Amino acid sequence: MPETTSLDALIREWEAELGLEGLAQARYQERMRVLRFFMGLVVPVLLALLWLPTGWAVALRDALAANTSWWRTWMALLVFLASEAVLTLPLAWYFDFRVEHRLGLSRQTCWEWLWDELKQAALGLPLQSLLFLGLYLVFRTWPDKWFPGLAGLVVVFLAALYLLQPVFLRLKYKTQPLEDPVLTERLHRVFQRAGVPFAGVSVVKAREKTARSNAALVPRGAGTEVVLFDTLLESMSPEAIETVVAHELGHKVHRDMLRLMTLVGTALLLALAVGYGILQRLGTWDGLQGPGDVATFPLLGWILAWLMAGIQVLLNAYMRSREYAADRYALEITRNPAALETTFRVLARQNKALPQPPAWVEALLHNHPSLARRVLALRRWANQRTISEN
Ligand SMILES: [Zn+2]
Repeated sequence: MPETTSLDALIREWEAELGLEGLAQARYQERMRVLRFFMGLVVPVLLALLWLPTGWAVALRDALAANTSWWRTWMALLVFLASEAVLTLPLAWYFDFRVEHRLGLSRQTCWEWLWDELKQAALGLPLQSLLFLGLYLVFRTWPDKWFPGLAGLVVVFLAALYLLQPVFLRLKYKTQPLEDPVLTERLHRVFQRAGVPFAGVSVVKAREKTARSNAALVPRGAGTEVVLFDTLLESMSPEAIETVVAHELGHKVHRDMLRLMTLVGTALLLALAVGYGILQRLGTWDGLQGPGDVATFPLLGWILAWLMAGIQVLLNAYMRSREYAADRYALEITRNPAALETTFRVLARQNKALPQPPAWVEALLHNHPSLARRVLALRRWANQRTISEN
């Protein structure tokens, strides 16, 4: 185990390892992350400007008589959301396709990428529209006591998102069971040590689409399934893969998904409550008829996008602390700091991650600590353990 060094020394060492071209690519990826965040703030404003001052939102509502029944409201929402999807498609293309190609990470053609986008939208758009349909129905039915209805709605929506995770994954990637009894048994043993019911290992055929690698635990029946990208299997030793799974088990055992969902749900509810308050004040402007009027949707979308972006920054700080906890857990149950460090290095190289992004970018936009910080923390824990064991 290398001894603890300073963060600066570690960053310099990794940057040298990346080389000039690798470093330039990693910095480019970081700039694109920032640009994407700010575009995410600009687009909802443009959409609101497109629909509201032009009178188009009111005209659409009147043409569909959209506030008179649930399905008419739903139709209007689908039109709004489809317009958003069309307007943001060039941005999605730029960030998910063009940037990924420039980084040498995507292996898809433009048409393949577009087809994947359409499939994801075919599931995502109705889901999103149902959330907002429920919202307007709640606003209309209980104009004064909307809060419990809204809370129920948010819980159902987040639960559906959680349960549909494997479906979203399989829409984009084909999966197959792992045909490696030795590795399967090894991962099964880590699950036993963590006390989590094991539901097998699936391999995601990601290689044909991307060079990125990833791993996740997803619900399957009463148990938990390990999902490994084939790109990860190719690049890591069984020991390193075990540490990746141990890290994910750390999240599972610490109930990080539940914590995150609770926080996101609370944040969403808070943002919706603020949105409702603003719609009460501004929602009768220029032909709009208050919070229950579906024509207010472009305004609500803008309010939500900005509030959630602000909240996301706070959530990121919390999630970074959960990542450290999962790393520590992985160290506890594998007792293999060297393999964990190797894992971080391989992931950094594969995903072209900057060892240490600028501090403000990390604080605002990253939900994982930088890889350099994670390695440093790891070395500190490993040293503490050695000292206490001696
Ligand atoms: Zn994690």
